Amino acid sequence: MPSATRKRVLALALPLALSACATPAPQALARSGAPADSSALRTLVLMMDGVPYDLVDSLWRAGHFRGFQPPSRLVSAFPSLTGVAFRGIWQELPTPGYEDRYFDPGENRLRGGLLEHLFRSEQESTFHRFVEVQPSRLAVSLAYLLPGPLARAELRRLREETDRRAAYDSTIVAYLVSTDALAHRGGRDELATFLVEVDAMLAEIRARHGAGLRIVMFSDHGNDLVPTRRVPLDEALDAAGFRSASRIESERDVVVPRFGLVGSSFLYALPAAEPRIAEALLGVEGVDLVVFADELGRVHVWNTRGRALVEATPDRSAYRYRMIQGDPLGFAPVLERLHARAEVDSNGFAPDSAWFRETLPTPYVDAPRRILQAVGTAVRYPANVIVSYEPGFHYGNAAADLVVPINGTHGSLRTSSSIAFFMSTHVATPPALRGEELQRYLRLPAR
Ligand SMILES: [Zn+2]
Repeated sequence: MPSATRKRVLALALPLALSACATPAPQALARSGAPADSSALRTLVLMMDGVPYDLVDSLWRAGHFRGFQPPSRLVSAFPSLTGVAFRGIWQELPTPGYEDRYFDPGENRLRGGLLEHLFRSEQESTFHRFVEVQPSRLAVSLAYLLPGPLARAELRRLREETDRRAAYDSTIVAYLVSTDALAHRGGRDELATFLVEVDAMLAEIRARHGAGLRIVMFSDHGNDLVPTRRVPLDEALDAAGFRSASRIESERDVVVPRFGLVGSSFLYALPAAEPRIAEALLGVEGVDLVVFADELGRVHVWNTRGRALVEATPDRSAYRYRMIQGDPLGFAPVLERLHARAEVDSNGFAPDSAWFRETLPTPYVDAPRRILQAVGTAVRYPANVIVSYEPGFHYGNAAADLVVPINGTHGSLRTSSSIAFFMSTHVATPPALRGEELQRYLRLPAR
């Protein structure tokens, strides 16, 4: 293909490819409300895709977001991706896959993506059903191409829609997606500049709708905020004799849904092939961890630093991290602290809350629980092998990779990818909490 044509084709394909990173809205679900006098608005919930806690915290400390309580660390799911994370926050049923494009083992084929999205008759139940103000599929796509202008357009629309709906809605839930695009493309500074504009707009909205207006803000995941390059995943699988396939017919076939440019990958294969796939990926540049479950419900965590088993009690109230060889997650000091506080039982299990507390300052926050969820209940069709990448690396859509430089991504198990934020004018939350715990603090009217 001549290079000009090729560029044009890529430019067309790119928005579709990249936009898989944030989950687009199904058709808008209007919520009727009783007409009221001037402003019925009492609560504004603002979800901002991909805004890391550290950035919001530093802005708050610098005097922005006046009238807000200090932000809390909101620990995302693993993978630290939008669909899985917001599903947890809103306590929705699991989606089929980790993102819009997924593998359906029953039908033995890849599904989802743009075309199915447009022509799907029944709407999946997702967090979008809670949201009144959100971007269209096209706007989501364009946001990853032109994050700056799209972010401003999204903010203008948010202000207009809030004013319009304030006449009859007492609660408005809004979702900004361009914050994620800014984090991926522009990095820390561009996102910080935009958040200052969000702050100014919120001050305006509060001035118009009364100081009594309660505002709640939170994000779904963080961002490593370092430039990234592609992990040679396909090459490594190839070299080990596996075949990149779109259906599974033999132990050689590996299906990898490709979407966005993110910090983890989801491999579908025959269970018998799992250890050999994991083996093939050890030592590949950018691969931080490879995880897969066995028939006993244990999860194997492998990397070049060692191999461990992660297990939970049947009621998931306690977790065990057993080092088989080396220490892949670097949790030996965590185990020491748990032992020192007498929180490890005779079988090696420590309570869920103790793991949460002790892993918070480590590079793998809340890892035992998040890893088990990722290969288990996080989605309807969990992957056979999940690969988590080091900061500075990504995998995903090959067309997007050719044209877009990425200044930050998320999706991995790393703490930097995984710490979102929660902040509000009126709700006091603990300094750190999990996405799944947020519902009890939101206390929104039933819908
Ligand atoms: Zn993203």
